[in-house]
Amino acid sequence: MVGLEDIVAKVEKYHPNDDLEVIRRAYAFSAKEHRGQVRQSGEPYLNHPLAVAKILAEMKLDAACVSVGFLHDVVEDTLTPIEKIKEYFGNDIAQIVNGLTKISRFQFDSKEEQQAENFRKMFLAMVDDIRVVLVKLADRLHNMRTLQYLPAEKRLRIAQETMEIYAPIAHRLGMGKIRGELEDLAFSYLEPEAYQEIEKGIESKRKVKEEFLEEVKEIISQKLQEHEIPCTVESRIKRIYSVYQKIKRQKIPIEQVYDLMAVRIITGTVRDCYGTLGIIHNLWRPVPGRIKDFIAIPRPNMYQSLHTSVIGPQGQPFEVQIRTMEMHRIAEEGIAAHWKYKTGRGLDEKDDQRFLWLRHLVEWQQDMQDPSDFLSTLKIDLYPEEVYAFTPKGKVIILPRDATAVDFAYSIHTEVGHTCVGAKVNGRIVPLKSKLKNGDIVEIQTQVGHTPSRDWLSFVRTSRARNKIKHFINVSQRERSIEIGKKILEKEARKFKVNLKKLVEEGQLLKAAPEYGCTKLEDVYSALGFGKLSARVLLGKLVPQEELKEVPDERITKFTSAVKKVFGISSDATIQVKGINDLMVYRAKCCNPIRGEEIVGYITRGKGVAVHAKRCANVGNLLYEADRKIDVQWTGAGEDSYAVKLSISVDDRQGMLAEITSTISDIKTNIKNIEAQSFEDHQGMIHVTIEISDLKHLERAVNSIKKIKGVNEIAWQ
Ligand code: MN
Repeated sequence: MVGLEDIVAKVEKYHPNDDLEVIRRAYAFSAKEHRGQVRQSGEPYLNHPLAVAKILAEMKLDAACVSVGFLHDVVEDTLTPIEKIKEYFGNDIAQIVNGLTKISRFQFDSKEEQQAENFRKMFLAMVDDIRVVLVKLADRLHNMRTLQYLPAEKRLRIAQETMEIYAPIAHRLGMGKIRGELEDLAFSYLEPEAYQEIEKGIESKRKVKEEFLEEVKEIISQKLQEHEIPCTVESRIKRIYSVYQKIKRQKIPIEQVYDLMAVRIITGTVRDCYGTLGIIHNLWRPVPGRIKDFIAIPRPNMYQSLHTSVIGPQGQPFEVQIRTMEMHRIAEEGIAAHWKYKTGRGLDEKDDQRFLWLRHLVEWQQDMQDPSDFLSTLKIDLYPEEVYAFTPKGKVIILPRDATAVDFAYSIHTEVGHTCVGAKVNGRIVPLKSKLKNGDIVEIQTQVGHTPSRDWLSFVRTSRARNKIKHFINVSQRERSIEIGKKILEKEARKFKVNLKKLVEEGQLLKAAPEYGCTKLEDVYSALGFGKLSARVLLGKLVPQEELKEVPDERITKFTSAVKKVFGISSDATIQVKGINDLMVYRAKCCNPIRGEEIVGYITRGKGVAVHAKRCANVGNLLYEADRKIDVQWTGAGEDSYAVKLSISVDDRQGMLAEITSTISDIKTNIKNIEAQSFEDHQGMIHVTIEISDLKHLERAVNSIKKIKGVNEIAWQ
């Protein structure tokens, strides 16, 4: 049974200046909140937080971390809100608890190694405080130690998760001791037979081996004393999972595992380490190729040591590891050894410590042999370039930072991207352009027949989404321009009484194509539709000049609804392209021309003909390609009306709104919508949308409103 005061004493030993009272308060709080809860083993739930806090204290972590050990399951497993933790224990502790609660939402259950790697990365990306990881590892360690009480199926899942996620993270953080225990525990559940076999192989000879190691230790201690090198000599028999991996990897029997037995010599300085190595090699013959200098070249997780294997007494091989005390501490505790963070000091101090730690990371990175290892994954924690989100089924999707729901949709499947109409993030509907955060669970809503919008290009972050959207737009634009080009050519042919059908069937049209850089008929139509090629010029190439006589076309009619369907864009039936029946026409949004105004048509890329008012500021810019200009005119007698929005700035006085509405109705004009705003200084703005039939009508309306007292200015669109 773990005692609270044991834990407090441990923390006090390594962090004498820490607020120890907070640990006692955390314990009392945890005891109260978890009261009545029982673990699967039947013992009180409190035993779990108590054990976790003890592990954290043994890792020499600070009072805040150890307190979190007590509190880590409170928000997750009781009704206690995080605000209460914040109120009782402050922001720092609350944030660590919050981080733990956040990551506990996820369950890893994939057999793919790639997914395991993604999950590990995501795990590290999601925590903004490394202490969250340390507490999580301690939590997992205790859960693994008590795993036998869970149902078999749960045991397997948790053991697998431990092997694939948590043990590698402990390894990458250099926490050799915890990693070793996690691996052996997980292995014993995942492959019980292999575990037992190796265990038997080791246990049957344990006594002999331990005697052997004692003898070797004795010899070494004596020899080093003679050379006046200070030392502590320890020995160990290799852990079961390590042995298993070695046997499997090198396909050797257990007898050939050279480092099954190892002696560890902890000495004073780096010089002592190399001196000791020389002495060992004088004592026993080294095995060629087994000397490794991890002092000169540390491992990516900053492990440092000298390793050698020698043939000892009775021809028995064993490994020798030589390191300084500092190296030893780092090997056992890893990043926890670097966590010298103290509570009770200013925030700057804390930041200093964090940056110190970051500096270490950068230094290790420079020494790294395998750049794909450790830091490349931990880096995301420090230089967040990626974001990790989930599908509802728990698959991790990695996206660049600031990626949106649309990026997510395209990374699942192109068709999902094309047809996405909405997204739910963590169960809530969000705009498609909202940026995803680490750990978001994203559900994409699709609709058959929906197509990508050009607007998406302004916010997608992945090149995959960008390319797919662009491709789609290009294809559909081309389809439209082919359609339009065909109609323009037909109209021009009709005008000159040219038999276009014959030209197509006899291949003359296709023959002319290469001259315009086209190889197919579709290309020719598309060039016409885009306004790159004039129909008049093309016909001139196909037909002798004298046959090209203009015949007036009287068949100016309203647009067929069929055309509207083809383009799916609202058409404006009261503007007519001169001489063309079936062309998609719409009023440009920038100037919204009114009947009676002078207008200009412009063939857009794939959207039909845009009609601008001649007064429109865009006209000058748009018409630089003269070929794309097209004559348009107003048709019909004007039975149709347009909605025009007037913005009237007024003095804010009583009765103003009523006066304006009555003036408008006096000139027999319908009001579709009216809104009023008040500003400071008794100024107001009234937006009124009226139905007008032509320019004269609009002028009449504007002039009557202008006459009202207190109306200062009128603008319309
Ligand atoms: Mn727990």
